[in-house]
Amino acid sequence: MAVVQNVLEPATVRAHFPALDQRVHGHPLIYLDSAATAQRPNAVLDAVRDFYERDNANVHRGLYELSRRATESFEAAREVVARFVGAAEPAELVWTRGTTEAINLVALTWGWANLREGDEIVVTMLEHHSNLVPWQLVAQRTGAKLRRVDIDDEGRLRLDQLDELLGERTRLVAVGHVSNALGTINPVREIVERAKAVGAKVLVDGAQGAPHHKVDVQALGCDFYALSGHKMGAPMGIGALWARRELLEEMPPWQGGGEMIETVELEHSTWAAVPHKFEAGTPNVAGAVGMAAAAEYIESLGYDAIAAHERALVRYGLERLSAVEGLRLFGPEDPEERTAVFSFALEGVHPHDVATILDAEGIAVRAGHHCTQPLMRRLGVPATTRASCWVYNTTDELDRLAEGLEAARRIFA
Ligand code: PLP
Repeated sequence: MAVVQNVLEPATVRAHFPALDQRVHGHPLIYLDSAATAQRPNAVLDAVRDFYERDNANVHRGLYELSRRATESFEAAREVVARFVGAAEPAELVWTRGTTEAINLVALTWGWANLREGDEIVVTMLEHHSNLVPWQLVAQRTGAKLRRVDIDDEGRLRLDQLDELLGERTRLVAVGHVSNALGTINPVREIVERAKAVGAKVLVDGAQGAPHHKVDVQALGCDFYALSGHKMGAPMGIGALWARRELLEEMPPWQGGGEMIETVELEHSTWAAVPHKFEAGTPNVAGAVGMAAAAEYIESLGYDAIAAHERALVRYGLERLSAVEGLRLFGPEDPEERTAVFSFALEGVHPHDVATILDAEGIAVRAGHHCTQPLMRRLGVPATTRASCWVYNTTDELDRLAEGLEAARRIFA
């Protein structure tokens, strides 16, 4: 039983993830980099292996058994992931390589078709480069302008400033569900309400949302939701864009090739129905199958149990890490406003040295700008060290992290 009375049972959950069962530099691995990519549960590894062992064939238009099975698995996976995010129908779910590709798809199709000189795109100080650079590119080409919502000293979005920025020129608000660098959970529902009041569309970067929270795109009220499989236990190279059907219908295709067409002449073509219009070329079928298995695995643990586990880790981590001398933690102080992502600076020790010292103890953390350079500048640091947790992490591991940091301080003292 992985879940007992709505609480994750750590030993059982950990046993689902074979990669965790190894020693690194002579120490048991402590994996604290799930915001970069999560480890994969057996349910996903088995699903991918089963697909390649039994059903592997190219999808759609195949008239033989394996191709039929592969197509069925691919479209069944779409149904699972569509349900996982609360889509009204599977056709609203476009497979992509991940969040980055999903956002670029929206920028290059909806953005190009709808943005004009003087239009405004509102982003935030917390955005990952994936939810900033695509908008810069489309702004440069269309004459639209980027506006940015700042954060307060705890790394929470300044909604008062959002109100000032929103206006009749706002066409789109692009906001992350959860900050990968600070763990801040953004009030997306509230942001959507305010954006809708001025008639703007809302794109949610859900890369860090989907692994932790029940995503319900209908309840959020957004127009686009982007997610990555590998952050939620699925293989790399698969992800999805959810968008309301009427938007997908209006959006022009972006990549041309096989699969996305209905008829092809020399000079022009007509397009396949959504979502296939956006899926040129051979798709990552095994990835889609793996992403569906990951979604079902998360659901089998249960969102209440995941939330309770994360809250316990957040509370414990905030308290334990605050006790490390010379450690400055970034992000909201209120555990309810953040996920179990701990971004920090250790006085006198460069973040890369912190990560290297921890690695020698078998502790995997990330050091750098976390693809959020504007945010790092806002915080006044070149980089932070980040420890990020998921369903398999324990408070014991956070103790080991804190001890490793104390040792690092002693080395550099
Ligand atoms: N957005 C956020 C908030 C992220 O954390 C990441 C990955 O770190 C991305 C977007 C990009 O995701 P991917 O590299 O899977 O496309």
